[in-house]
Amino acid sequence: MKNILTYIEIKDRAPIKLSLESLSKASEIAKEKSTESIALIFDDIVDEEVEKLKAAGADKIIIVKRDAYNMEDFSNTIVKVAEKYDAEDIFIPGSLDGKDLAANVAAILDTVSVTNVMDIKFEGDEVHYVTPSYGATVLTVSKVKKGTRIIAIRSGSFDKRDDLAGKGEIIKEEVDELKDLKAVIRDVVTSTEGVINLEDAQIIVTCGRGASSEEIYPLVKELADVLDAPISGTRPVIDDGVLPKASQIGQSGKIVSPKLYIGCGVSGAVQHISGIENSDFIVAINKDEDAPIFNIADIGIVGDCKVILPLFTEEIKKIKEN
Ligand code: FAD
Repeated sequence: MKNILTYIEIKDRAPIKLSLESLSKASEIAKEKSTESIALIFDDIVDEEVEKLKAAGADKIIIVKRDAYNMEDFSNTIVKVAEKYDAEDIFIPGSLDGKDLAANVAAILDTVSVTNVMDIKFEGDEVHYVTPSYGATVLTVSKVKKGTRIIAIRSGSFDKRDDLAGKGEIIKEEVDELKDLKAVIRDVVTSTEGVINLEDAQIIVTCGRGASSEEIYPLVKELADVLDAPISGTRPVIDDGVLPKASQIGQSGKIVSPKLYIGCGVSGAVQHISGIENSDFIVAINKDEDAPIFNIADIGIVGDCKVILPLFTEEIKKIKEN
């Protein structure tokens, strides 16, 4: 096996959690196969963040300076760096941008990308990728028969490691920026939707249809505020305009992996569960004792959110005060 290159997506001058999860897995494999784990970033990052890349096993940290994200230029640069550093595997965090990049990198290299990778297994020299299908009710195993293996990692599938002690050699590379771009980002407008960072949140409170009424929603909001947690929603809640699209979790929304997920009035449809199953601890409040979410909840509270939520919030306040 040759070297493994991981593209590190940066937000606010720091790698996003999924970048560190992807790099950690790449480094684990690189160590096992006695190859190098190489991290590629497109911006300077502070020393503290460089340390995190080293701790996640990066032997080399390649910096190619860019002012702004552009899918075509980033893909082209990833390919150039992979070629120069002899990387046969390219790991890309499976964020919205990451999935775009993976497909485009694959197109440049005339190969395929495997998206949503939640496990990687080896059979001799063959690498097998496990991906979820049909809302994670079926797992698919795929392999790339030839060419560079480009994979987009699913959020929360691998641990973010801080004990892999890569060499962390920093190398500044110059790669010519692509000139003839098909699309140019002229401006990035950040709405309040943009600040919802569910993927990195430690605690998430989710509002389902059963808690989205004018009467109950403020109670969900109060619980989220006390816990200092973002509010996410199921698809019907987004469709009804109670919460913005950026807060949707599930098959057609975001995949999250918080330490604590609290679902209020969420039934537990597979399309929602596939986005939360990597949560460490799941609490569900639902008035229907047969709601499917109770099958995966660590704690299930059968009751009306109108009654339960004020009690819940009160208890959390007491704990915080003490
Ligand atoms: P419901 O299923 O209507 O459940 C509401 C729950 O609230 C019920 O269990 C009820 O018992 C409970 N309840 C009602 N009142 C109260 C109360 N006062 N107190 C306590 N409990 C109460 N969904 C997603 O979430 N994310 C996705 O990304 C997504 N993608 C999809 C993609 C496709 C292709 C399709 C077909 C569907 C997708 N869906 C997605 C929709 C999904 O199938 C479900 O319809 C949705 O998740 C249900 O949302 P819900 O649990 O809020 O609502």
